[in-house]
Amino acid sequence: MSDCIFCKIVAGEIPSRKVYEDGELIAFHDVNPAAPVHFMIVPKEHIDSLEDCHARHEMLLGRILLLAPVLAKEQGLNDGFKTVINTGKGGGQIVFHLHVHVIGGGKLLHV
Ligand code: 5GP
Ligand code: ZN
Repeated sequence: MSDCIFCKIVAGEIPSRKVYEDGELIAFHDVNPAAPVHFMIVPKEHIDSLEDCHARHEMLLGRILLLAPVLAKEQGLNDGFKTVINTGKGGGQIVFHLHVHVIGGGKLLHV
């Protein structure tokens, strides 16, 4: 998607503070962090939101969730962390490229 900000980050056209990268995933710090540690795990494939995931994305979604605790520990979140997926306008989604927030290291709103 040419006008998608996260696709531009994936392509290296917009700089980001990268946490992790492999062939199908990238993780980078949020520019507007909600806590001392706040990064996002993002599939390189453009998928608008969780609502647009299908059976073929099962492995990708599983990989994202399994990566979250590994990266959280690497970022010093030894006491736990919060994962958030905002889906659609009603879910507060702003960037319509699927991503999982990983947040921690401070006082978090309980959801
Ligand atoms: P959403 O509400 O869609 O789940 O959250 C999108 C997140 O992306 C927001 O927390 C926002 O701060 C972050 N964000 C928006 N633009 C950029 C950007 O250009 N770079 C980075 N690193 N994060 C961004
Ligand atoms: Zn995109």
